[in-house]
Amino acid sequence: MSDKECSDITAQSNWKDHEHKLLTALNDSKQGIFIVDKDYRIRFMSQYIIDTFGEQTGNICFSSVGESHKPCSYCRLDEVIHQKKTVHYQAEVASGQTFEIIASPIENADGSISKLEVIRDITDRRTIEKELEQQQKYLQSIIDGITDPIMVISKDYNVQLMNKAAQENVRHADVKDEKNSKCYELSHHRDAPCDDQCCVCPLQQVVKTKKHTVVIHNHFDATDTFKQTEVSVAPLWDTDDNFIGVIKTSRDITSHMEAQDTINNQQKVLNFQANYDNLTQLANRSHFIEELDKAILSAQSNNKMVALLFIDLDRFKQINDSLGHATGDEVIKVIAQRLSHEVQDRALLARLGGDEFILLMDQPETKQSVVTLADKINEILREPVIIANQPLFLSGSIGISLYPQDGQSSTDLLKFADAAMYKAKNEGRNSYQFYTSGLSEEVFARVLMEANLRHALSQEQFTVYYQPQVDGRNGKIFGMEALVRWQHPELGIISPGNFIPLAEETGLIVDLDKWVMKHAMQQVASWHNQGLQPGTLSLNLSMILLHQQNFVTDLTKIIAATNFKPEWLELEISEGQVMRNPSLSIQKLQEICDLGIKLAIDDFGIGHSSLMYLKRLPVNKLKIDQSFVRNLPNDEEDAAITVAVIALANSLKLEVIAEGVETEQQNEFLISNNCTNIQGYYFGRPIPAEKMAERLAANVCL
Ligand code: C2E
Ligand code: CA
Ligand code: CA
Repeated sequence: MSDKECSDITAQSNWKDHEHKLLTALNDSKQGIFIVDKDYRIRFMSQYIIDTFGEQTGNICFSSVGESHKPCSYCRLDEVIHQKKTVHYQAEVASGQTFEIIASPIENADGSISKLEVIRDITDRRTIEKELEQQQKYLQSIIDGITDPIMVISKDYNVQLMNKAAQENVRHADVKDEKNSKCYELSHHRDAPCDDQCCVCPLQQVVKTKKHTVVIHNHFDATDTFKQTEVSVAPLWDTDDNFIGVIKTSRDITSHMEAQDTINNQQKVLNFQANYDNLTQLANRSHFIEELDKAILSAQSNNKMVALLFIDLDRFKQINDSLGHATGDEVIKVIAQRLSHEVQDRALLARLGGDEFILLMDQPETKQSVVTLADKINEILREPVIIANQPLFLSGSIGISLYPQDGQSSTDLLKFADAAMYKAKNEGRNSYQFYTSGLSEEVFARVLMEANLRHALSQEQFTVYYQPQVDGRNGKIFGMEALVRWQHPELGIISPGNFIPLAEETGLIVDLDKWVMKHAMQQVASWHNQGLQPGTLSLNLSMILLHQQNFVTDLTKIIAATNFKPEWLELEISEGQVMRNPSLSIQKLQEICDLGIKLAIDDFGIGHSSLMYLKRLPVNKLKIDQSFVRNLPNDEEDAAITVAVIALANSLKLEVIAEGVETEQQNEFLISNNCTNIQGYYFGRPIPAEKMAERLAANVCL
C-alpha cells in the first residue's frame, strides 16, 4: 500500500470517526436534521426525526406527516432548492406540535442542491408564548376599556404600551422610529424630552423620586386646541424590583378646569360681594366690623386708641328723590372716591349703605388728629359734585366714637358713633360731634319718633287745619293756608314744627304732603261747590316732593280726582328750599305754573334769594317771613326790610302777603305800606275744617 493509499485510508477512518461523532451528537440532540432532495426524497435524517416522525431514509418526506401524498403546506422546498434561500420559520403540524425550522440549501457532491432542515420542537415554548399573548391581549383589552389614555414608558422615554385612548390621542404624532416612539414625540410633538414649566416631565420626577406623582400639563394638542391635562405617573418595577419605567395615565381636565375657573371666579365675586360694597367697591359693614374687631384687639394690647368716624350726607334723600336713584348713586360714587383718595392708607373707609360711610382710624396719635381728619372730610363733602354739568352742593355730618374711652366692643362703638352723627345733624349739619354719654337716649327718642311717624301715616293720624288769608282792610277771606296737624292718640295735637323736619329727613314727607294735598283739596272743592267761597287754597310743599319724578302727573291726578280747579290752588315753597337748587327749581316750577297753578315763595327774606334767580322763577307771590312782621312797626330794621320786600314784589310785578300778623298796629303798618294781604292770629288762627266752614259761612254774609 502506497503512502498515499495509507494516508487516504487514515483520512477516511478519521472522517468516519468524525461523522460518527457528529451523528451521535446530532442524535442525542433535541434538534433534528434531515436532508431532502429536490424530489422530496429523504436522503439523510437524524435519529430525532426517525423517532419523532417515524421516517426512513429514502422515504418521500411528506408521507411522514400524513398529508396524503402532497407536499406539506410548511415545506418550503421550492424556495430553498430553486431560489437557494435560507428560510427560518415556524410550523404547527397536524399533531399539534410546533417546530422551529431553519431550512438552507446545500450542494451535493454531484452539484445538485438539497434542502437541509434543522428542526426543533418548540411546542412547549409556543404554548407558554400563546398563554402570554393571551394574557397580554386580556390586559390590553382591560386597559383599552379605560377611557383615559394610558402609556407604559421605559426609562429612556420609549413608549412600550398604550391603550386605545392613548393611541387615539397620538394618531397624528410625528415619530422618527415607529418601533421606538418616544413619549415626548407622541404626546407633545417635540423631538426632545420636555423640560419647561408648562410641561414638567413627570418621568424625570419619578426617576428621581421613585414615587407616584401628578402634574398638570398645559399645551396645545395636534389640532392646536389648548388643553389642560392631569398626568398621573407611577413607577414601574420589574420582578427583581428594578425601576424600569413608568405607567402614565392622563386625563383631559380642560373643561373641568374651565368649570373650576368659573367656580373660582364666582367664589371671588361672592367673596367680594360678601365683603365689599358693589357701588363704591369700598368695604361693607361686615368686613368693616371684622377689621374693627381686629383693630380693637391690637389697640388693647398696645394701649392705644381707635377712632370711628360715622359720616352721613346731609339731605341726600332729597337728591335721590328729586334727581332719581341713578344720580344719587353717581353722587355716592364721587364722594366715595374723594374720601378714599383723602384717607388712602391712613384709615379704613367703608360704606354702610345709603349715604352712610364709616372710617376706622387705627391707633391715632391724638384726639386732635381725629379732629383734623373730620374737618378735612367735611371740607371734601362741601366741594360741589358735578353731575350732568349741574353742581350739587352737599355737606356731611360726622359722629365720632373712641376706643377705649366710649366703648369696648365694635357694636357699641358703631352705635355711639351713629348717635354722635345724629347729634351733629341736629346741631346744624356740616359738623362733627364726639360721642358723649346721654347721647344715645336723644337718638333713641328720634328713632322712636320716626317709627311713630311712619305708624301715624299708615293710621292716618293727621288732620288739616286752615288759616284764613284776608284783605287786611276789611277782613274779607280770599284764601286759606292748609297746615297739617298730627293727632297723636296719647299726646294730642302735635304741631308740624315737631315732625316736619324728621319727615323731610326720612322722606316720609312725600306721603305726608300728598295726603294733606288730597284732603285739603277735597275739602276746599266741596266748600266751593257749597258756594262758601273759600278762595285760593295755599298748600305747603316740600321741595323733596316737588322734585319727585312723577310729581306733576300725580298732582294732575289729584286735581282731577278731587274735582279741584288749578286756579284755586297756590303752592308755597320756602325760599331756602328753592334757592338750594335754583336752576332745577325753575324748571319744575314752570311745569306747575303751566298747569295754571299759582306759586308763592314762603318765608321770604331769610333765605338769601338771588335776585337773578328770583327774576327767572315763575312765581306769583312773595310771603314776607313772620320774623320780620313780629317786631313791626317799632323795629326799624324789620320795618325797613318789610318795606323793601313789598317794593321788590311790586317792581317784579308779584303779589305780596305778610304772615304772623298778630296786632292791629302790624296790620296797619302793612296796609299803609301797600301790603293788604294778611295772614295771622289777628284775623284768625289755624282752625279745623268744621270751624273754617262756619267762618266761611259768616264771611259770605260780610
Ligand atoms: P309756614 O308755612 O310758615 O306756616 C305758618 C306757620 O305760622 C304755621 O305754623 C302757623 O300756625 C303759624 N302762624 C300763622 N299765623 C301766626 C301768627 O300770627 N303768629 C305766630 N306766631 N304764628 C303764626 P305751623 O302750623 O306750626 O306750621 C309750621 C310750619 O310747618 C309751616 O310754616 C310749614 O313750613 C310747615 N307745614 C305745615 N303744614 C305743612 C304741610 O302740610 N306740608 C309741609 N311740607 N309743611 C307744612
Ligand atoms: Ca306756608
Ligand atoms: Ca311761612
